[in-house]
Amino acid sequence: MSLPAPYRFLDLAGSPREVGETLGRLSPPFRRPSWWPPAPDLEFAEACRRLVGRWHPSLLEEYEGYAAAQGLDPMRLWQQVCRTSLRSRPFACSAVAWRDPEGWIWVGRNYDFQPIQRIRDLIRLCPRDGLASLGMMGSAPGGRYDGVNEAGLFVSLHAVMADAPPPRPGIPFHLIPRILLERCRTAEEAVEALLRMPHMLPLNFLVADPQHVYAVEVHPLTVAIREPGGDVMAVTNHYEHPAMRAWQGRRDLRFSIRRKERLEQWVAAGGGSPRERLREALSDHEAPLCGHRPGFTTLWSLIADLGHRRIEYAMGFPCHTSFVPFPWPGPEPATDITLPGSRLYRW
Ligand SMILES: [Zn+2]
Repeated sequence: MSLPAPYRFLDLAGSPREVGETLGRLSPPFRRPSWWPPAPDLEFAEACRRLVGRWHPSLLEEYEGYAAAQGLDPMRLWQQVCRTSLRSRPFACSAVAWRDPEGWIWVGRNYDFQPIQRIRDLIRLCPRDGLASLGMMGSAPGGRYDGVNEAGLFVSLHAVMADAPPPRPGIPFHLIPRILLERCRTAEEAVEALLRMPHMLPLNFLVADPQHVYAVEVHPLTVAIREPGGDVMAVTNHYEHPAMRAWQGRRDLRFSIRRKERLEQWVAAGGGSPRERLREALSDHEAPLCGHRPGFTTLWSLIADLGHRRIEYAMGFPCHTSFVPFPWPGPEPATDITLPGSRLYRW
């Protein structure tokens, strides 16, 4: 078993500054991806930085370490990663939570974008002042798009296409899952944090712990919570809550709705082991949930059994890429992992 380039697995621990320095050293020189919209002005970026400092100050130290390792001006780096818009590309990411017959929550998730995204790092992090976590980092240094923490919390992030007011300072989207994973022990704590946090962009989150699951629909002016009606709940890229739908205007939401419905149907009707039920649903080519198009490519997929603290990632299409078990995040380095061919780092 090996992780194909450009996927990497990094096992990091230490002070925020040390973690940032290590990440900066191991990463290519930061370049703002071509598909990102223009950076906000310095004053706006500084206001966002202050807000992040209130929520999770160690993140700012980590950025300083990253900037130092790459020879960048820390404020300039911060300004570049502080995104106030997600526009310019269509979005598709799907996640589902399922309660097994014993009552434990399982989650499955596909992250879809375009092959142009080259940074695909799975990071197992044991921070000095937060909960240990395991999750995927994309183009924005320090961010997470999905992951689990040592307490059994799962978080995934989904862009939503909706009208939004002119941006006001808030927490940059890529840091929201990171903050939840390092500071919250339960799905309920994560929901409370999402309700209180200043948001800049329309987003959906699936948050789950071994016993509870919520879909949190976030807009800069409103936040709505959905709870599952039965044993299955999926989240894609549109708002479902009646209080939120008007923000979507007249956009064509059919692809997002089709994926959500298909995922829920697959998982509800599936047989075999829980893991196989989720793997088959995530591999669906009818909606499709597993994307093979240039504009809709599934870059990774995960299945987690939150009750028994097990997680597997497929670094590629879930339909034909093996799911590899990774060690659950905790205070110890991941000494029991064998991934010949992958790049494994321990600090
Ligand atoms: Zn496929």
